[in-house]
Amino acid sequence: LAQLYGPLNMLGYLYRSINQSLVDTERLLSLLSEPTEINDRPNAPDLLVDHGEIEFDNVNFSYDGRSTALNGVSFKVPKGSSVALVGESGSGKSTILRLLYRFYDLKDGDGRILIDGQDIRDVTQSSLRKAIGVVPQDPVLFNASISYNIGYGKFGAQPEEIETAAKAAQMHDRITSFPDGYDTKVGERGVRLSGGEKQRVAIARTLLKNPPILLLDEATSALDTSTEKDIQKALQHLVEGRSSLSIAHRLSTIASADLILVLKDGQIVEQGTHSELLARDGVFAAMWADQVSGTEDTASSHKREAVAG
Ligand code: ATP
Repeated sequence: LAQLYGPLNMLGYLYRSINQSLVDTERLLSLLSEPTEINDRPNAPDLLVDHGEIEFDNVNFSYDGRSTALNGVSFKVPKGSSVALVGESGSGKSTILRLLYRFYDLKDGDGRILIDGQDIRDVTQSSLRKAIGVVPQDPVLFNASISYNIGYGKFGAQPEEIETAAKAAQMHDRITSFPDGYDTKVGERGVRLSGGEKQRVAIARTLLKNPPILLLDEATSALDTSTEKDIQKALQHLVEGRSSLSIAHRLSTIASADLILVLKDGQIVEQGTHSELLARDGVFAAMWADQVSGTEDTASSHKREAVAG
């Protein structure tokens, strides 16, 4: 039996790895029709992550060879900094995340995407994806215990580590309120978690995975104020010390981003910090004014104060 343990354990690990990437990619994939197959070059080396600095260097991309999804996009995410992508629907935000995750490879002459100076086309996909944590908008949970759902972020995660991650992700108290605590079954056939709770499970899982780079897709749906606060707190733990690229739908959540890139028709039309962009009185300031006048909830009154201030 002991001899079997090693291979079985390995199988379990492989299964988890496959599940992991399925779940990670699910949201990004859900927006794709037919992802093209990406092949590693023969003898491609693994990505060596030093600082986790990301660079898009004059990136052009089209899904169908006719219409342009990205046009001359250049930016850097310096080590440990947070960059937020904003822009109307179809402006290219998700495309940037998909390209970084290598659902598509750039064609020669269409620019480069680098991580710590390495062109991501030149390294193995598995090492690239290992270095990147994804928190999707609407994470899918397995029909398994909540502890499994968090724990497969890291092979062999111990119960204490799972609990620490759940605490940092502001999910521990909710979990202990379930009759079976961490053993509670979640998913379709178990306890149904709200969107905000599922996102916190995904945050806990990613904390365990501990990747140097993060891709975040903020939920579009409005969350109540306390859920919003919990998620923001959880995300603060997660982004701390990592290079992150996030898609922001609610502009109030990115006030503290190191850099905001404003996209329009596949191009970066403005960039700067929140206050710089408001002072500029351009596209971002107009989007902000729109969101502020759009709703009357607490979040928007904060926005109003911020605008006034
Ligand atoms: P949203 O906020 O609605 O998610 P987005 O800013 O993320 O929008 P993208 O999904 O990056 O926008 O889309 C950029 C452009 O690429 C759009 O014109 C879109 O129609 C097009 N596009 C996106 N996915 C595909 C696809 N799988 N096939 C063809 N065109 C696509």
